[in-house]
Formats: sequence, C-alpha cells, structure tokens
Amino acid sequence: MRRKLVAGNWKMNMSFTEADDLISGILEDIDSNGIPENVEAVVCPPALYLELATDMASGKELFVGAQNVSEYENGAYTGEISAAMLESVEVDYCIIGHSERRQYFDESDEALAGKVNMLLKHNIKPIFCCGELLDDREDDMHMDVVSTQLEDGLFHLTEEEMSKVVIAYEPVWAIGTGKTATPEQAQEMHAFIRALVAKKYSQASADACMILYGGSCKPDNAAELFSQPDVDGGLIGGASLKATDFISIIRSA
Ligand code: PEP
Repeated sequence: MRRKLVAGNWKMNMSFTEADDLISGILEDIDSNGIPENVEAVVCPPALYLELATDMASGKELFVGAQNVSEYENGAYTGEISAAMLESVEVDYCIIGHSERRQYFDESDEALAGKVNMLLKHNIKPIFCCGELLDDREDDMHMDVVSTQLEDGLFHLTEEEMSKVVIAYEPVWAIGTGKTATPEQAQEMHAFIRALVAKKYSQASADACMILYGGSCKPDNAAELFSQPDVDGGLIGGASLKATDFISIIRSA
C-alpha cells in the first residue's frame, strides 16, 4: 500500500517566535496522540527557520521541507540557498516548481529540472508541483499543460531517481482562492498523472509514486479528497499555519 503524505507550505509567513510556536503546537499533538500509521507529516517553513524546524523535529514523527533551492551547486549566486546547505541542516524534502515560483519568479521547466537533479544529488526528496491555470482548464488544455510540466521538469530522471520524487498536483485556480477542485477533478488528474508515470517508467513505479493534491485543502474537505484512490495526501498552504487545522488534515489522510 502507498504511504500518504501531508506537507504544510508556510510560504512567506511567520516570525521566528510564531514558527517556534507552530512547530511546538504540531509536535505536542503528535507526541500525545501519534499520527496515523502510513502517514508522513512534513512542515515547510521559510528557509530562515529550517534549522529550528529540523532541531525541533529530530527524533519525532515530523519531517521538514524547504520551499525552494538553487539549481546551482555553490558560488556567486547572491541570495540563493543550495541543496548542499539544505542537506547540511538535515532537510528531508523540498518543494519545487510551486506555481507562485513559476508565475512570480519565472521559473522555467529547464531550471526546475536542474533543481530536481541538485536535490537528488544531496539526498533531499523533491515535492514537484504541477498544475494548470484557470484558462487552461476552460480551454480543456489542463492535461496537456500538466503532461508538459512533468515531461520537461521531471521525466529526464532514471526510474531509480523517480522513486524518490513526490508529485503535487495543484490547480493554480484553487491555490489560496478557497475554490477547491472537486474530488472527481482531483481524481481524474491524479489518475492521468499516474498513467503518465506508468507509460514513461513502469506500472510498478506508477503504483509506488505519491501524488498529492494542493489547492484550498482544509479540515472540512481533506477527508473526501484524500479518499480518492489516486490522491495520496496533500500540499497545504493557508490551513498549515494553524496547528489544529494542520493536525486535523493529517488525521484525514
Ligand atoms: C499551496 O500554496 O501549495 C496551497 C495549496 O495553498 P492553499 O492551501 O492556501 O490553497
């Protein structure tokens, strides 16, 4: 059976003290009540708080992810953070290709392919985001868009490398808008993505591949989304900023 994963993308939110409080709140609940068997919980705070997070989560049932990484190994890239740096503070995962990075920072599929390579080289599991704009869906181009993003950003990997990647399907029209994809829309796209992985690699790879849903996933809709056969958990934005909501979503997986 595939594992499930729930990852909280904090984006550019939280002071140091608030970050400490939020992680403490999540850990308090996990320490008292555990988390469901077969579910992995991940927090992805801003880079400045990663070491705090990995220190606090050490030895606990909580993993830590970054929100971005440089495609370069090291050197004169002012302001960037390398995969080696993330590895050195024991980060487990890294979100790659979030639609906000594609939209506001012009991240190309080519750059994303380089970032994925760099993460794998440094033993960090990529959470590779894909998803269509509202116009794409209205033009019935959503499958083509997602297929191109996977082909250009991910499918250069070997089958062995691909086994370390988590895919997050995030329709852009559902991110931070309160407009969630219906369980049927999510399932349809997740099944399509799984079929692409099967075609490119193998059925075994596709069966093992974790595919998360992201886009206005909340405590009151998580269970229904996660009950779809090809939805293996979620990438959670706004609702990951409150410990009780995030924990409730983890328990829905
Ligand atoms: C996200 O940013 O990855 C996301 C899914 O955000 P939200 O849950 O707020 O829609």
